[in-house]
Amino acid sequence: MDTLPPSAPSPSAEAGCHAGRETMQAAARAAGKTEAMDRLMADYPRGPHDQPQSMCPAFGSLRVGLRMRRVATILSGSACCVYGLTFTSHFYGAKRSVGYVPFNSETLVTGKLFEDIREAVIATAKPEDYDAVVVTNLCVPTASGVPLDLLPRQINGVRIIGIDVPGFGVPTHAEAKDVLTGAMLRYARQEAEQGPVARPRSLVEGRAVTLIGELFPADPVAIGQLLAPMGLAAGAQAPCREWRDLYAALDGVAVAALHPFYTASVREFVAAGRPVVGSGPVGVEGTAAWMEAIGRAAEVPEAMRDAARQAVLPAIRAQLEKNAIAARITVSGYEGSELLVARLLIEAGAEVPYVGTACPRTEWSAADAEWLNAHGCHVQFRASLEQDIAAMKEAKPDLALGTTPLVQKAKEMGWPALYFTNMVSARPLFGIMGAGSMAGIVAAQTRGRERFARMVGFFEGVGSADRAGYGFRDKPEDPPGFRERMRKLRAARAKAEEAVGS
Ligand code: SF4
Repeated sequence: MDTLPPSAPSPSAEAGCHAGRETMQAAARAAGKTEAMDRLMADYPRGPHDQPQSMCPAFGSLRVGLRMRRVATILSGSACCVYGLTFTSHFYGAKRSVGYVPFNSETLVTGKLFEDIREAVIATAKPEDYDAVVVTNLCVPTASGVPLDLLPRQINGVRIIGIDVPGFGVPTHAEAKDVLTGAMLRYARQEAEQGPVARPRSLVEGRAVTLIGELFPADPVAIGQLLAPMGLAAGAQAPCREWRDLYAALDGVAVAALHPFYTASVREFVAAGRPVVGSGPVGVEGTAAWMEAIGRAAEVPEAMRDAARQAVLPAIRAQLEKNAIAARITVSGYEGSELLVARLLIEAGAEVPYVGTACPRTEWSAADAEWLNAHGCHVQFRASLEQDIAAMKEAKPDLALGTTPLVQKAKEMGWPALYFTNMVSARPLFGIMGAGSMAGIVAAQTRGRERFARMVGFFEGVGSADRAGYGFRDKPEDPPGFRERMRKLRAARAKAEEAVGS
């Protein structure tokens, strides 16, 4: 089967992140992926920052699949991309095999790659081992139009899910999580519409609220405490850990889009007739507004909603007062929870002049952005690293929360900084537990400011630019005359080249 129409510009087997977004998009459209590209462009709109500045976006969807029981994962892409993705997934403890269908220019152009993928899927889809097989087209196969939608929908009862996750169409790895979660929810919704489905293992009795986002493990428990007085429970989480949990997620009485970038997933919940609520229960004001919105969406009577709020808000207020934060903090990241973290910090007393998130503006973070603006905080959606660094330099914070390169920059300048993913996302955010979680770490880090300044002074000029590296016993010095000799050599070489050209 031919996957490339004769007119399609053929991306080389080596093309990828560096081939240029426009070129790759044009190739994908010419190769029959117009609908898929339009969908990605609509779901994950561009912004001031529209190219991935973090790891390969496909890591997001790869990780979602690898964290599911009885789900096999197959990648189709350039060997270097697959090497990087599998390396990262094992670095993060995947402990699962990642299937790979290699290709070369010939198999790509002749369509043999699609046949190879089909064979791999058939060999993998064993019902005794798997509920589903996920096949992911990375950049080059997407640009070449490898038609995963032509794979069988199921083989011996094993569902086959084919997704395109190109770096030139999905700006962040956060949104790539949504690509796979949305595709799975869509499949599961269609199954449920056709008849009875398997009972979810983690089915919560009673009226449950589905939670969207990869949450810190204590957060669903904290949310459950908020919901219980309204006769509700914290239900399934999407992304799910098992196929049948998708049915539980679709069955929630309401859906909390705690992470606001799951556009394709929300579409499936809406198609299933579920009301979706944005923001999250952070601090006093955030928790009050969220509980009211969830209560209304789940048709909880007003008196019960009021009583539920009164049951928890004083305890949250007391926690915030006990763990007050007196510091100026800038926040940036790509997790999608940056706005909620900033809200919590402000409610705890911090000054937060800037929040940057790599995620786009969506309906589900609109209330948070408005609240933050009203509290003197600039919110930058699709923030670039350059914008985050410029904002940090201008704000001169007591503590910068951010991505690895931002933290590195802050430390170079002698400012305390914390890596958002490891240090902030790894602690509770919601409800009573969340209210006291940040104070300790902020206090410990900001106390270190003076020590950082001393270290910067002590190491001034060492380990930077061409003096970087290990093995020096003393402060590195240029060998005498070295630069001058090199300058003369370069000048002589340039002159010789000029002579050849004349
Ligand atoms: S799949 Fe990822 S690493 Fe490979 S070219 Fe695309 S964005 Fe880059």
